[in-house]
Amino acid sequence: MHFRTKAIHVGNEPDATGAVVPPIYLAATYAQPGAGERGAFDYSRSGNPTRKAFETTLAAVESGCGALAFSSGMAAVHCVTMLLKTGDHILAGRDLYGGSFRLFHKIADRAGIDVTLVPTEDLDAVRAAIRPNTRLLWIESPGNPLLTITDIAACAEIAHRHGALLAVDNTFATPVLTRPLELGADISMHSVTKYIGGHSDVLGGALIVRDEELFRQLYFVQNATGAVMAPLESYLSGRGLKTLELRIRAQCQTAETVAAFLASHPRVRRVLYPGLPIHPGHEIAKNQMSGGFGAMISFELDADYDGAKRVVETTRIIRLAVSLGAVESLIEQPASMSHASYDPEVRRANGISDGLIRLSVGLEHPDDLLEDLDRALRLA
Ligand code: PLP
Repeated sequence: MHFRTKAIHVGNEPDATGAVVPPIYLAATYAQPGAGERGAFDYSRSGNPTRKAFETTLAAVESGCGALAFSSGMAAVHCVTMLLKTGDHILAGRDLYGGSFRLFHKIADRAGIDVTLVPTEDLDAVRAAIRPNTRLLWIESPGNPLLTITDIAACAEIAHRHGALLAVDNTFATPVLTRPLELGADISMHSVTKYIGGHSDVLGGALIVRDEELFRQLYFVQNATGAVMAPLESYLSGRGLKTLELRIRAQCQTAETVAAFLASHPRVRRVLYPGLPIHPGHEIAKNQMSGGFGAMISFELDADYDGAKRVVETTRIIRLAVSLGAVESLIEQPASMSHASYDPEVRRANGISDGLIRLSVGLEHPDDLLEDLDRALRLA
């Protein structure tokens, strides 16, 4: 079955009533066949039919043995870090979502877990930084917010050679463009809040897992800690998945047009978009991403903090907001918004300049987006 067909049908088989979409099961608990006997579901934290339907679809489209849905993307990242113990080491990409940076450095480190960040687009840097106690290699490709491209298959090989797990935050690439487990990763993670939900009305996260034993361990942590996705969110996420491929194809096409426009704009110093041939990761992206380069674009202005701030405050159709991946285009300044949890010096050292702007290209008509951007770049 092709991606779209799986997204529509797997996990969505009609139930006893013949309903062609899964019902939203709100029940917190389930009647059991007998004391000490367990039915298919017993308590909604441990399993819920609506959540299960979404997890089944997600595992099918990303070639996993199973998937787990969480109350947020960060809850999914946290669940992975809970596999580690004192003395373990996380090696993570430098181009990293601010919330993951905070979780690794300010929560995981409380348990005595060491964290090192490296530019994972440079495989020699990964090889040099991996240690005997590295238990987890964590990468994003494309990275947030610099859109760096990391070779997933090569990282899987390095991680496994050193006895570490490879987890890929696949939020920006989506299951349509990249399926990390097929490239050797152990875990693929999503902020479902973004492209999978797709309409800025769901907060959720997910892990898709390659191996039964690892799945069992992660399920244990999820059930023990409890940050599961709620039934309504599970329903909306499953619905989002059905149109994901069509949305992504259209959003990627518009993003290519917008990236070309920005690249030729006199006020723009540099465009970071893996679809541009000048992007250092373009060749790897061509192999690793199927049929598009994503719909996230970052760009640097010929301006400082205040100049970038004025541009993001001047667009009208493109809304000023964090988050991404939805039908409406969103713009933000990482220095003051999505990556504000970094110490400014560390942020700049990690390549996130004050003049950087991040754009999530939505489903509006491309001409309206170009006009809006051009106006903001001229006026601000
Ligand atoms: N990973 C990436 C790449 C993100 O962009 C985000 C949120 O912006 C997250 C993880 C965290 O997800 P959530 O906000 O759903 O907790």
